[in-house]
Amino acid sequence: MIKLQDTTFRDHFSETLPADPHTDNSPRRVAQSAFSWVSPEPVSAPKTIAYSKELLTVLGWPESEANSELFAQVFSGNRLLSGMRPYAMCYGGHQFGHWAGQLGDGRAINLGGIDTETEGHLTLQLKGAGPTPYSRRADGRAVLRSSLREFLCSEAMYHLGIPTTRALSLVSTGEQIERDMFYDGHPELEPGAIVCRVAPSFIRFGHFELPTAREEYQLLEQLVKHCLKNDYKDKYAYHSDGLVDWFRDVCLRTADLMVHWMRVGFVHGVMNTDNMSILGLTIDYGPYGWLEAYDPHWTPNTTDAQGRRYCYGKQPEIAQWNLMALANGLYPLIGESEPLEEALTEYAKHYQRSWRDMMCAKLGMQTGRDTTDDSIIHELLSLLGAVEADWTLFFRALSRWDPQVKPQDDHLQGIVETFYLPEKFSGEVKQRWLVWLQAYGARILHEGQSTPTRIAQMNSVNPIYIMRNYLVHQAIEQVEKGDISALEQLMLAMRQPYEESDSFTLLTGKRPDWARHKAGCSMLSCSS
Ligand code: AMP
Ligand code: MG
Repeated sequence: MIKLQDTTFRDHFSETLPADPHTDNSPRRVAQSAFSWVSPEPVSAPKTIAYSKELLTVLGWPESEANSELFAQVFSGNRLLSGMRPYAMCYGGHQFGHWAGQLGDGRAINLGGIDTETEGHLTLQLKGAGPTPYSRRADGRAVLRSSLREFLCSEAMYHLGIPTTRALSLVSTGEQIERDMFYDGHPELEPGAIVCRVAPSFIRFGHFELPTAREEYQLLEQLVKHCLKNDYKDKYAYHSDGLVDWFRDVCLRTADLMVHWMRVGFVHGVMNTDNMSILGLTIDYGPYGWLEAYDPHWTPNTTDAQGRRYCYGKQPEIAQWNLMALANGLYPLIGESEPLEEALTEYAKHYQRSWRDMMCAKLGMQTGRDTTDDSIIHELLSLLGAVEADWTLFFRALSRWDPQVKPQDDHLQGIVETFYLPEKFSGEVKQRWLVWLQAYGARILHEGQSTPTRIAQMNSVNPIYIMRNYLVHQAIEQVEKGDISALEQLMLAMRQPYEESDSFTLLTGKRPDWARHKAGCSMLSCSS
């Protein structure tokens, strides 16, 4: 353990890559540079609201440090520690399918990194610490509600076992900032906050797209070499074949991430290429949401309500589209499109196989046993949609269903209770459910696993505690009034997402009716 004030930071990205020669914060085009030096803008009254105990340990700091004044000062950007030289990264991206040119860290500032004992080199980054040359017309700040959402969800994802950037701290700034939450010309003042995000790397697909679009090939080469060395630990050599192998690796990681998201019903909401991590991590928690009523077209993002480009069911396809944009970014270094196209095809195959295995695991069917599995899975998805079953609660209820008992109404109660539209469980739909349960029950019995083993296996992939949009919304409302008990309750539950406990019965209900269309619960905007 080391004290916060005795920690020395260093940073490989800014040490090796070319810096923007200008050091003012004015919004501008930054050419031939990987980043710009910036200083966080001090805030008036920083106060630590929450922190991640697990991450403190990884970073080598005792828990007492998180309650110190210094901690709030450092993780609000008011004070720098030894070796910290803050900077904002330059990258571009495709937003909603269109090339957007330079984007960059408009409200993220990297402080530097630490070599940890257990997780290698980790970079610490403040989100909401003030403007940078990439802020365009925005203020570089973040509101408490969106910061709390990012803090909570990234740690929840970690405990779910899903690759993600982490969050060390949530610090309120003591300042009010103006936001037009619905873009309807009615801005309001809201409390500001800053999250300290932590990851081995914050490099995005857009880092490679921008230099290629600008024909800055030397910068592209430098970025790729940096990434291969630091983020991929020299696993791939810098020549055409090595680069293709690396790209394939990025494709497979991204496919695995999509399978995880689909498993737990996570909808990112803004899968632009600047929000895609080169390490296959979940990154940039904005208007994300958790699927409650099963509907492949569901999106939490109001900005995407028309096109539904980033809805639940389209995420795997969009990830592949984003990988194609990355392939175009890397193409000048490889010079051949065929091997890149092959890797994209492999993405699709790998995703299909892994998704099927994941669905079999959710259903307690061990993989590769039976060719009827596909029809069991697809008919189930159709039936879940017909009754709007809760994606989380349904699979827990299914694990408790006894396949040896003939499906009858009282025996099905546990399952029907997870439907948002139980009235649809009648007539032809009910008939199809009964047929499905019979086929599924036979499949389970055929497998010959003991019931406790099957339940344990199903529960290990079907979480019971997810950070439901309405629960987080309630926690935000309370924190805004100065009460952090609901937030603390969520933080306890998220540490054991697969293990049901009597302490958290209030967190295991279906989404209440009032939250179905409520702003902040199912309707979120990018403006935060
Ligand atoms: P996002 O879709 O949230 O990842 O944001 C897209 C781009 O807008 C990124 O370059 C962000 O850094 C930038 N951005 C978003 N919100 C702000 C803000 N409040 N101030 C400055 N830049 C922002
Ligand atoms: Mg972003």
